[in-house]
Amino acid sequence: MPDEATQEKKLITLKTFFESVPPGKTIDIKNIACKKRAGHGGYYYPMNLPELHLHCDTDTCNGIRFFEPLDTEHLQQKKKSEHFVTYQCRNCKRTEKTYTFWAYLSDDGINGYVFKFGENPTFGPPTPARVITLIGAERDYYLKGRRSENQGLGIAAFAYYRRVIENQKDKILNEIIRVSKKLGAEQEVLDDLEKAKTEIQFSKAVSEIKHGIPQTLLINGHNPLTLLHSALSEGLHAQTDEQCLELATSIRVVLTDLVERIANALKDENELNTAINRLLQSKNGEKNSTTMD
Ligand SMILES: [Zn+2]
Repeated sequence: MPDEATQEKKLITLKTFFESVPPGKTIDIKNIACKKRAGHGGYYYPMNLPELHLHCDTDTCNGIRFFEPLDTEHLQQKKKSEHFVTYQCRNCKRTEKTYTFWAYLSDDGINGYVFKFGENPTFGPPTPARVITLIGAERDYYLKGRRSENQGLGIAAFAYYRRVIENQKDKILNEIIRVSKKLGAEQEVLDDLEKAKTEIQFSKAVSEIKHGIPQTLLINGHNPLTLLHSALSEGLHAQTDEQCLELATSIRVVLTDLVERIANALKDENELNTAINRLLQSKNGEKNSTTMD
């Protein structure tokens, strides 16, 4: 039974494969093909190309949008075939993304495996300007990490990201302190964060944070610093390039999300203050001008 469970877990969808798997890995895929059809002097299987959720950076979109395939691809049982598939943003019809890969359809005509040669533009969402600002001096290492990740070089990507986090620890903590102060966090929370800054290593710094961080910075209820810490320590013991690659991707995703949350928290606070002031002013105005009640 555990074997079945692991096997079940390993099969991923084509959607996940296109959206979240960097090039350079062979991946088992479920439901790779639609029902077989007659034609081409025999049977063929239309590839089950899904709609994707990708980042579109045009002015009109500037966010995650649906992308649909412009091509149809055919597969044959127990055969490896090479493919070029272009996707287009369904909203603006301007942004395109092309994947090159080979696919193998298994005996069952349903599942198979695929290998991504590459994608253009490169794997992953564009690096938000805010992330570049936060990592500052480590920008080059971060971008090298991205490049390694795109090429499936897990150990390299992990090492670059690790260096970015270790070296920018104080900057990350300072931003969290800013948010905490704005949101009126308890003194003990602020004390922990200040104490964390005195630690040289990121892992030791994280262990100083015993009273948590503001709720608004949590990712699905988890402290992003703890998530980064576990990814970093796991990576040091990771056995394979693939494991390192997965951890590197997790580090990038968590770091990006944290930066977005920090920026939103600071912005929300400003917006909230403006809104409150506006309401207070109009309420005062109302009091002065109204004679009803
Ligand atoms: Zn678009």
